[in-house]
Amino acid sequence: MTATRLKVPLLDLHAQYAPLRDEIRAAVDDVFDKLAFVGGPYVQTLEKELAAYTGAAHGVGVSSGTDALLVAMTALGVGPGDEVITSPYTFFATVGCIARLGARCVFVDIDPKTYNIDATKLEAAITDKTKALVPVHLFGQCADMAAVNAVASKHGLPVIEDAAQAIGAKDADGRMAGSLGTIGCFSFYPSKNLGAAGDGGMITTSDDDLAHIMAIMRNHGMEPAYHHEMLGGNFRLDGIQAAVLSIKLKHLDAWADARRENACHYARLFEERGLTERVGLPYVRPDVHHIYNQYTIRVAADERDRLLDHLRAHDVGCAIYYPSGCHMQPALSSHGFAEGDFPVTEAAARETLAIPIYPELTDEHKSTVVDVIAEFYGA
Ligand SMILES: *Cc1c(COP(=O)(O)O)cnc(C)c1O
Repeated sequence: MTATRLKVPLLDLHAQYAPLRDEIRAAVDDVFDKLAFVGGPYVQTLEKELAAYTGAAHGVGVSSGTDALLVAMTALGVGPGDEVITSPYTFFATVGCIARLGARCVFVDIDPKTYNIDATKLEAAITDKTKALVPVHLFGQCADMAAVNAVASKHGLPVIEDAAQAIGAKDADGRMAGSLGTIGCFSFYPSKNLGAAGDGGMITTSDDDLAHIMAIMRNHGMEPAYHHEMLGGNFRLDGIQAAVLSIKLKHLDAWADARRENACHYARLFEERGLTERVGLPYVRPDVHHIYNQYTIRVAADERDRLLDHLRAHDVGCAIYYPSGCHMQPALSSHGFAEGDFPVTEAAARETLAIPIYPELTDEHKSTVVDVIAEFYGA
């Protein structure tokens, strides 16, 4: 019965590249013709486009999402003795940057429905050492930024949005990720909604001074040439990446709409098959614009890994984001966290599973995914 079933990858970048191939190749040729390899006109154009797109005043192109976070935290003066508050349920880059700067990671557990930082628990985590708040817009849905910003402004703290998974997402007030805090950090890793042909990232801010500092910092803190007022590094963005990204940016909203339609379609299919008791669907906060970098379902902990194996055995791509909270990572063992410290995160790490949501999924793909899950539950 299953012999000829369709394969459904978790992400299919071939399908995205095919219609853009000629345009991308011509742009890459032009980067060579102009020798605009590092920085240069393509990077400057992308910075302006990203600023305009997010509604922030400035964009600063950098080498990755991780480096965006590192530069942002460095520019805010995060260092030894400081505490930075973030979510333990994130890609480790968010947390790694805090620890690399010698600061202490202070985790606030997540909201069980959105998987984003639980803003009602934020204030209790603030001390006189707190230097910044770093909410993560996980899976493409904004953290509750009205609540985060209210706490931040009460305590005079800057907010860095980890918007690596959330380009184009909007909070409940209609404003875009990257313009909701003091600094926004984006990743162009190929699996993000706006993916480069390699690594890349962008920092957004409406603070003129911070924009200037971060632009210098990404290039060894150098201004003017060979004068180094501050310590920075090589965190520059390549021209080839910027050229590719400007082409893809024109399609980003349409791709996000297709992801959103896929999410609606999945909800209908899970409903029709009577699966919604066993399969928890993504929760979307009222009025937000979710861009579904991931479509994450939730199942019983003792069934999750078997469902994962079942999906893979039937050529349906899936992945676990993330199998454990950052507080349990060996790299943070000196911070002294223990199992049980963040129970909402730990439960999510045991129960969630991401299934394919990429824009080019066909109806047949989606039906196949839901059929394979229905088969697992004998539905
Ligand atoms: C991808 C990602 C990053 C890191 O971005 P890179 O470009 O891979 O360095 C940081 N935070 C989150 C939440 C991410 O998903």
